[in-house]
Amino acid sequence: MSKPFTDAWGFSKLDTYRDCPKKFFFQFIQKLPQPSSPAMERGSDMHEAIEMYLNGWAKTLPENLTEWVVPLDVLKTKDFQAEQALGFDKNWTPLKDWFQSGVWLRAKMDAKYIQDGMLTVIDFKSGKYRVPSTEQVELYAIAGSALHPEVEKVKAEFWFLDSGDIYTRDYTKPELLQLRKKYENYVAPIYADTVWEATPSSACRWCTYSKTKGGPCKF
Ligand code: SF4
Repeated sequence: MSKPFTDAWGFSKLDTYRDCPKKFFFQFIQKLPQPSSPAMERGSDMHEAIEMYLNGWAKTLPENLTEWVVPLDVLKTKDFQAEQALGFDKNWTPLKDWFQSGVWLRAKMDAKYIQDGMLTVIDFKSGKYRVPSTEQVELYAIAGSALHPEVEKVKAEFWFLDSGDIYTRDYTKPELLQLRKKYENYVAPIYADTVWEATPSSACRWCTYSKTKGGPCKF
């Protein structure tokens, strides 16, 4: 038996738990550090450069982002908001602060705007193009809809910064309201777990906490 998880969840926590509860335990309960990687640092630099450009704090983009000048300039003509850290309580009500008590879900939105009654939420992704998981897209759209209950339609866009692709998916408000229950069911086991069972798989090869990487896991 170990202590339960009491912090807020987010998509990457849900994803980690579903991969391996033991990994979740090491990362989010024991909070054992995970080394950064060149790919993570590169992604974070790209996000920062875009945020600077969108907010007008930088006049140009680095060379590896120049093909995004036009789409970003179009985005700038909308009434957009960039880089928002959002916190929601268990009723999916947006809270003022990402760290305030009662935050149940944390979500980050790279950019969003409302036009003609539709909310568009945008996530910038670095690295190879991969169709995002349905869950990742849905959760992004649900969070957008919870933040803007006045809109009836939500478009989730994933901009793949390296490949130049944009993945989009549209939802209606009733669809998103119905989908909430699915995520409540998904995360309930995370808050009920006190065993944090290891589920070894081929993914152990890349796990920071594996025995081969000198970590505390027996696999
Ligand atoms: S090495 Fe494998 S079993 Fe151990 S925590 Fe990592 S993913 Fe889980």
